Amino acid sequence: MPAAKEQSPRFKTVQTLKLEYAPITITQYESTRTGMRVAVVDQKGPKVNGYFALATEIHDDSGAPHTLEHLCFMGSKAYHYKGLLDKLATRMYSTTNAWTAVETTTYTLDTAGWEAFAQMLPIYLDHLIVPTLSDAGCYTEVHHIDGAGNDAGVVYSEMQGTQNSGPELMDLEMRRAIYPEGNGFRYETGGMMEQLRSLTADRIRDYHKEMYQPKNMRLVITGEVDHDELLQIVDAFEDTIVNDVPRLDAPFKRPWTDSKHTPPIAESMVKTVRFPEEDESTGEIMIGYLGPHYEDHVAGSAVSVLTQYLCGSSISVLENTLVEREQVCSMVYCQTEDRTDSTITFYMSSVETERLAVVEKRFVDLLKEVAQKPMDMNYMHDCITRLRRQLMARCENAGDFFSQIVIDDHLYGSRSGEDLKQVETLDDFDLLLKWTEKEWQDFLSKWLADANHVSVLGVPSKELSDKMSSEEKARVKAQRERLGEDGLKQKAEDLKRALAENDKPIPESLLEKFQVPSADSIHFIQTTTARSGAARKMGKLDNPTQTIIDKDDNGSPLFIHFEHIESNFVRISLSMCTSSIPTELKPLLTLYLMNFFTTPVMRGGKRVEFEDVVLDLEKETVSYQASSERGNADMICIHFQAEVERYESIISWLKTMLFDAIHEPARLYASLTKILADIPDEKREADGMAASVLLMVQQLPGSAVRAQSTLSKSLYLRRIRKLLKTNEQAVLTRFAALCKALHRPENFRLLVVANIPALPSPVSAWHALLPPSSLPLPPLQPLDDRKAHLSPAGLRPGHTAYIVPLSTTDSSFAVLSTRGPDSWTHPDLPALRVAAAYLDAVEGPLWVSVRGTGLAYGTAWRWAVETGMLTFSIYRSPDAFKAWKVCKEQVEGFASGRLGFDRFALEGAISEIVLGMASAEPNGASAAEASFVNQVLRGVRKEWGTDMLGKVRGVTQEEIRGVIGRYMVPAFGAGTANMVVTCAQIMQEGLVEGFKGAGSEPAVRTLESFQDDYGLGGDDGDEGGDDDEGDDDEYDEEDDEDDDREDTPGSGDDA
Ligand SMILES: [Zn+2]
Repeated sequence: MPAAKEQSPRFKTVQTLKLEYAPITITQYESTRTGMRVAVVDQKGPKVNGYFALATEIHDDSGAPHTLEHLCFMGSKAYHYKGLLDKLATRMYSTTNAWTAVETTTYTLDTAGWEAFAQMLPIYLDHLIVPTLSDAGCYTEVHHIDGAGNDAGVVYSEMQGTQNSGPELMDLEMRRAIYPEGNGFRYETGGMMEQLRSLTADRIRDYHKEMYQPKNMRLVITGEVDHDELLQIVDAFEDTIVNDVPRLDAPFKRPWTDSKHTPPIAESMVKTVRFPEEDESTGEIMIGYLGPHYEDHVAGSAVSVLTQYLCGSSISVLENTLVEREQVCSMVYCQTEDRTDSTITFYMSSVETERLAVVEKRFVDLLKEVAQKPMDMNYMHDCITRLRRQLMARCENAGDFFSQIVIDDHLYGSRSGEDLKQVETLDDFDLLLKWTEKEWQDFLSKWLADANHVSVLGVPSKELSDKMSSEEKARVKAQRERLGEDGLKQKAEDLKRALAENDKPIPESLLEKFQVPSADSIHFIQTTTARSGAARKMGKLDNPTQTIIDKDDNGSPLFIHFEHIESNFVRISLSMCTSSIPTELKPLLTLYLMNFFTTPVMRGGKRVEFEDVVLDLEKETVSYQASSERGNADMICIHFQAEVERYESIISWLKTMLFDAIHEPARLYASLTKILADIPDEKREADGMAASVLLMVQQLPGSAVRAQSTLSKSLYLRRIRKLLKTNEQAVLTRFAALCKALHRPENFRLLVVANIPALPSPVSAWHALLPPSSLPLPPLQPLDDRKAHLSPAGLRPGHTAYIVPLSTTDSSFAVLSTRGPDSWTHPDLPALRVAAAYLDAVEGPLWVSVRGTGLAYGTAWRWAVETGMLTFSIYRSPDAFKAWKVCKEQVEGFASGRLGFDRFALEGAISEIVLGMASAEPNGASAAEASFVNQVLRGVRKEWGTDMLGKVRGVTQEEIRGVIGRYMVPAFGAGTANMVVTCAQIMQEGLVEGFKGAGSEPAVRTLESFQDDYGLGGDDGDEGGDDDEGDDDEYDEEDDEDDDREDTPGSGDDA
């Protein structure tokens, strides 16, 4: 690392912004030597993220911007080696990435801790400002013809995969219609295949020289940043490149802002684009408008509000009319782009192909109708306040949120900083709250209803699909003939030479120069824990938060765990034990979760329909959901996030949903239909089904996870839906019994995360949740113990092996399972995690042996402390037995010492674990949740995570070898592991034979044979197939609510 300079860095401060609505400061600096800008968004937490943005305007489809993005990773002036940047990143708690859009190429550096970031930064910048851009790099990365006469190259293949997709073709057609020749938004920055074939290295180098100047670059860095050190680092870096870049005063046309505005759309037009697709039944529609200028910030905010009003939810007018009532498409949504002239684009998906033109017209007419009718001003105000609320909530993940705002400012904003300054306040929203109905109507008419637009109808075409593939075949054939045998030989040699030049090995001495910072350099967010009611039994605490809680304590026995963080919001989670639910009712949990927020309720003595429940919840919360508890999947979790002032109101909603819901057959039927509709897709996923079979085999029916798995719910819930038609009382009785068993205070563990002093009555507010009776509560239920539900096969793995042929896959998938560490403080856990990360790493031993040889797409180790199981899965293999054999050899080789560990790869594995843990707790809310999970659900120290980091860094090679021998080798033993393989039907015999030869005795069974009806019984007429034939006329009500807030456990059952 360059030594700190004595003279102060040549940077000036452009502006310092202090946000009014969140504890965030944004500081912007500019280099007085090169004009490079650096914006720092200060935020506490373990993550430091960098976004290095370049404005990249181009007036052709050559793909120079996109190819440059790839080539920058292939070496630089000071670091010539391809892969060096990523090899270093892997050790330095970092990952790198980049994207090229129409308007920018942005590079990212995602790191845990400032020290590691500071080491990576100048190396990364060297790659961007002075990359090697060698001919050999262009040859392999951009485009070349291989020895067989096929066109290849990383970028070429990438575009081959996307260029002719429906959305790409439609988007390009739209831009070609809106933007005239010579306007940068018109072109394909990814590169059209035809032009990539003739793009030269010189063209790319010229484009780099023009665009990758420091003054066209902005570094956006978010996290705990040492500003002085940052400026010193960038200043020292500039010393090394200042002579390689154009002088600060050299003429420079700033992309976008120095270009012309887009002229208004002269007249409305409807374009038709055919895209290759085998299924011709439905197509897509895009309708695009030009919106206000970038610098008109109030109008920009008004567009956000208006589009939310029009199509932000199932109760908004466009979606309600077109999707719910007229059912002409499956979805309407809107996307806006903040360009010099913003764009507003509506999308309608799954429109019947022959009705595309009619539906497009209907949309345009509907917008006119809406603009002429009275506006629903109450709902408009709801939209404004909800947007403001959600925006503030997003500030708590400042890195993600502000990076895009600053990048847009870099692309289109004024260099004086006045545009970025807008971010300081939310005044726009206050202003918009004062807009009259007339003002909104005029705004809607001006920008949408009466505005010219460009519509693109996307028509699927099988003929085009056939034509394109035959033309491509003919082109390659002609190319081969043109080159001839000698020409092809020459191409093969050219490629070999280029690869050899690119892949020069990196000297170890170079890698050794970089010291990996200690894990102490990563600052996790500290929260303060307090307890009330039954939670006090976990130990007495002495801190200011606890004092506040004690003051408000009314003797309530409810288990409440508080976490104090800096936040404008309160997050409430209710975790419920499920062990008191009778086993035969447990499969109803899936229905329970799906139905939880979409049901009518009694409130204030009146019945409230479910649509109004949704409306009110949207009004009062930032988010709400019902799901499995992440820290213990046998438990259920109900979660709310809302503004602090809503604390008592949210508690009241929780009480309503728990105790005053009306279980209505029609609603239950709708939820069941939704659940059952997804089951065929779940069953098609061969990897998910291997895991699901393993779950059925290794766990007892009492496990709530097992009861909610695909193979339980498919049979059970189908019969429940049938029963609902013939005997609805029988279903209602069961559902009520489930709720009664579950909704008992002794099952409740509450988590409240907030700025605790801001809650007026943090404990006593919960009084509302308790039943009115004054009887003492029964003692708290122990946590659901997932180990208690292990079957004999789960307790003693071995000699259980199944091959399950599926008609829906042409590949094979294997899951092996054996015993692993079964406690969070198990001494082998740190070494096991390092071993798994080492073996699984990209370019690691298993990756090289299966992916590199085409034996499988990937492999993964997973350890589940809750059940004490360790699983190994082989993903998508042409022969799971061969892949299994190769993995077994590798694992045994490391255990015996026949194979040695690579020192740098081992550091990489540790670094990956460290980065993963930092990424899991980026902000106060996630740190608070981790604290609850550690203390309450796992019964370990709050600091378990940081303890683990230290331990992981101290693991020795001996210890790794030891755990591989003790845990991983048994995963491949017939007597010590269970195995499930799902595969294509034709593979079954070969797999049985292979595994038999290796000492296992696999039985072949159908997927259906693992289903469980939990004793519900019923006639077996319709259990074979899952095609959900719509005999659901009885409760034929309109398709309902947007359920994207709900989160029901899917097919990804973990063992
Ligand atoms: Zn790419």
